[in-house]
Amino acid sequence: MILNEEQLAIKNIAGDVAKKVIAPMAAHCDETEEFPWDNAKALADMGFMGVVVPEKFGGAELDTVSYVAALEEVSKACASTGTVMAVHNSAAILPILMFGTEEQKEKYLPSLASGEVVGAFALTEPGEGSDAAQVATTAKEDGEYYVLNGTKCFITNGSAAGTFIIFASKDRSLGIKGLTAFIVEKDTPGFIVGKHEKKMGIRASSTVELAFDNCRVPKANQLGKDGEGFKIAMVTLDSARIGIAALAVGVASAAYDAAREYSKVREQFGKPICANQAIGFTLADMAIQIEAARQLTYHAAELKDAGKSFGTEAAMAKTFASDIAVQVALDAVQVMGGYGYSREYPVERLLRDAKITQIYEGTNQIQRVVISRSILK
Ligand SMILES: Cc1cc2nc3c(=O)[nH]c(=O)nc-3n(C[C@H](O)[C@H](O)[C@H](O)COP(=O)(O)OP(=O)(O)OC[C@H]3O[C@@H](n4cnc5c(N)ncnc54)[C@H](O)[C@@H]3O)c2cc1C
Repeated sequence: MILNEEQLAIKNIAGDVAKKVIAPMAAHCDETEEFPWDNAKALADMGFMGVVVPEKFGGAELDTVSYVAALEEVSKACASTGTVMAVHNSAAILPILMFGTEEQKEKYLPSLASGEVVGAFALTEPGEGSDAAQVATTAKEDGEYYVLNGTKCFITNGSAAGTFIIFASKDRSLGIKGLTAFIVEKDTPGFIVGKHEKKMGIRASSTVELAFDNCRVPKANQLGKDGEGFKIAMVTLDSARIGIAALAVGVASAAYDAAREYSKVREQFGKPICANQAIGFTLADMAIQIEAARQLTYHAAELKDAGKSFGTEAAMAKTFASDIAVQVALDAVQVMGGYGYSREYPVERLLRDAKITQIYEGTNQIQRVVISRSILK
């Protein structure tokens, strides 16, 4: 697809902020593992922390295609910041937008859309990743509250967020049918932000453990109906995967750009290395894969914007884009030889950053389960 004028303008605005503010800090963020607050603020100032939120709740009210076009640019500059933006917009805001009551939307969306509060989504637990039916965090009724007990792990934005979407079971014997979603505020008594995960890549996007120790959540904060938690999680992740695909395209493009430019100036045997067909063909393959991944991503986003079914296409886009991101980043390191392996250049970081896109928001094996179920039914 070709972006329309407005979508292209949004992509360019995001690209501008990404180049001027976010990219110069990317290596520093990776080294220090500090949450990129300045980048989040720069995104918030441009409306990118509430991209699809309706204007009446303080958002930019843009379409999904604009969102993924902007996210690609941000992720090209810094995948950690891209992850912050993706999880905030897709995984934390969307479930409130899709399943929240009017009161919940009025209470939580304005501060999320302005970026004043960062959002997080907590489904995964130490004993449960791909299989959400195993969620062991419980929610027991007590008067006007639900009392949550349990532990979540690998929660993106966890140390920075103020609003969390939490999945807990009201009745574990019911499996996924017992799961219910809750909106939990950071300062709720019994809610504890635990250890910071030290990771291979996206090091500045905080990934933490969360604990619930008799955490009392007002009944008014239940999101959706009893037992609707699994549906909320899956519908949210269907959308969020389009964002991860865009993020992967951004990382792949950054690696490709770095390798292409380097190949034009690095000379061996009396000529630029790009004059060797082996290098030229590698770069050509990278360009083909990136454009194909971008088009799959836009296609899934376009289907969503058109109100059509998009879950299978989102899984396809996420799987393809993340697989090519890893391959492109790996090839970029190879094109740049020893310098590609050095931290002096960005491609070793991009390779580490690319890897997570095959794992989070459902591993690529799970995406293939989703796709094969859809094509075989
Ligand atoms: C940096 C990072 C950020 C994250 N952010 C969040 C977040 O914000 N919120 C959140 O809730 N979670 C988050 N996660 C968790 C992430 O979604 C899970 O790690 C992921 O879903 C896989 O779960 P797991 O790690 O428990 O692996 P497992 O489910 O134990 O899987 C291990 C391996 O087995 C494979 N496998 C499992 N089942 C099948 C099957 N049926 N068929 C074929 N292969 C299978 C998997 O693909 C994988 O290769 C994050 C993880 C990381 C690393």
